[in-house]
Amino acid sequence: MPAVLTRPLLWLCAATILLAGPVAVSSGQERPYRHDPQPTAVGHGGAATTVDGVATRAAIRTLRQGGNAVDATVAAAAVLGVTEPFSCGIGGGGFMLIREPDGEVTSFDSRETAPAAMTPDAFIEGGTPLGFDAARYSGRSAGVPGTVAGWDEALERHGTLSLREAVRPAIDVARRGFVIDQTFFSQVEGNAAFFKDVPSSRSLYLDPDGTPRDVGTIQRNVDLARTYRAIAREGRRAFYRGEIAQDIVSAVQTPPVAGATRTWRPGVMTLRDLRTYDAIERRPTQTRYRGVDVYSMAPPSSGGTTVGEALNILEGYELGSLSRTDALHRFLEASRFSFADRNAFVADPAYFDVPVGGLLSKDFAATRRALIDPARAATSPVPAGDPRAFDPAGGDGAGEAAASVTRAGTTTHLTVSDRDGQVVSYTFTIESTGGNGIVVPGRGFLLNNELTDFNFDSTTHPNRVEGGKRPRSSMAPTIVLRDGAPYLAVGSPGGSTIITTVLQILVERIDLGRTLPEAIATPRAAQRNTASTSAEAAFIDSPEGRGLAALGHTFAPTAEIGAATGLEFLADGRVLAAAEPARRGGGSARVVSGGG
Ligand code: GLU
Repeated sequence: MPAVLTRPLLWLCAATILLAGPVAVSSGQERPYRHDPQPTAVGHGGAATTVDGVATRAAIRTLRQGGNAVDATVAAAAVLGVTEPFSCGIGGGGFMLIREPDGEVTSFDSRETAPAAMTPDAFIEGGTPLGFDAARYSGRSAGVPGTVAGWDEALERHGTLSLREAVRPAIDVARRGFVIDQTFFSQVEGNAAFFKDVPSSRSLYLDPDGTPRDVGTIQRNVDLARTYRAIAREGRRAFYRGEIAQDIVSAVQTPPVAGATRTWRPGVMTLRDLRTYDAIERRPTQTRYRGVDVYSMAPPSSGGTTVGEALNILEGYELGSLSRTDALHRFLEASRFSFADRNAFVADPAYFDVPVGGLLSKDFAATRRALIDPARAATSPVPAGDPRAFDPAGGDGAGEAAASVTRAGTTTHLTVSDRDGQVVSYTFTIESTGGNGIVVPGRGFLLNNELTDFNFDSTTHPNRVEGGKRPRSSMAPTIVLRDGAPYLAVGSPGGSTIITTVLQILVERIDLGRTLPEAIATPRAAQRNTASTSAEAAFIDSPEGRGLAALGHTFAPTAEIGAATGLEFLADGRVLAAAEPARRGGGSARVVSGGG
């Protein structure tokens, strides 16, 4: 039945469900799960915040049962793979930052990797780069997924649970199902035309007539429950070897389409690519900013170096004593110049000598700050600086200017702490909303299109496609310590706006007197060395938005930027967990005791 006829009725049903609590289902069936937004919570004993109430509850339950923050993060992430399947899952990859109770901060890079046989011209045909959708909806855009290896590695080294125990809550969610909400519906709607080409995607996420399932109906995923069970039984090898690996390779090499009128290009991933995949433990970036230490993700993500460079630029201003317009002008300009450097100098460090030390040097930041006119917005694109001259390791990679990619996908971020002071900030993704559009037949998860994060239109850029390489990311899972103790943990989805969102939250919280929930809720703007600054309508229409326009800023309206989550460790020993009050339908923040 056409969704449009049934939707008002179902809205009514959904509203009744929300008011009435448990979902009524026919006898003999177990109750499905449902997302219950709750943007803030304060309390003790650990905290979790994600975009989804079902995932946050799984994290809190794991903490209550004695699990640590890494255990709870993996439990919640596995649930998100079910309830947020268009943003993340085992078909993709991510970056997990962990602060250990002894104060050490480390990170795990489970970024997807280009199959060994990929070449720089993989997305160039007849001398012309493919358009984004042609590149994306294909087997070719899928990198070797890293999520399962990342979970396994993090649990092994920093958790107390096995992968088997950690994925158990997610198996139940996949089996019982959850109530489809408006966000989920809209994400399916955005992909429906492409899912229709792929029977496995179509049957999982569309009604028989090819329209999205209505809000208020139940989404189950028995194939994913079975896949998780196999991982629970056999560990990561179930995913990287054997039948699941076979099915991934087939779906990539021969996209499982039927009756498609568009071309779904094949990829070159092999069983060997999967077998040899490794998550990498990396030293995070560290930036001292106004007396606190900001840790974030090192290359191949550009998150840590770009947030860090912008903070170093901003440290030269007394932001707190400026008007909001003047402070935000400096925020936008610092971001503009940092993005010029990010675009030219960040790629997979195994393939390009990234001048991390130079990008994060205070002296380099001073040269960039000197280019900022306090009374006038610069005209983008501004050229990159030369961080190599400030790099103690003498990074010798030759940067290459590139236009900013301003696309924003979805992704998801979660932040978790436990009673012992372990803190996790984890961003993971399948790149675009809906990844490459291909649900691996019989396995219940979408593949990523992460390889479109390469500068795939260039055969010379440091971030060009190469076999075995990880595409540059913008993910910026961040943890801030004060005197070695946890102070803040934040992160967001949103493609390259991840960087500007994390930066803006830090500036709003540390410099501009906002609480963490206010810093997350406040309207956002993202300047990424593009002529116009992407901004939410509420930002453009605010007094500071008008003030910034008078300084020469032009804005490109964007419906929503990011979907952040964060934690603040309060002076009285409690933890404040904060999620979005409105973006993406509102997130879910909970604590182990005292606040919900
Ligand atoms: N693929 C993006 C990145 O790694 C994240 C996806 C998104 O949020 O757009 O930076």
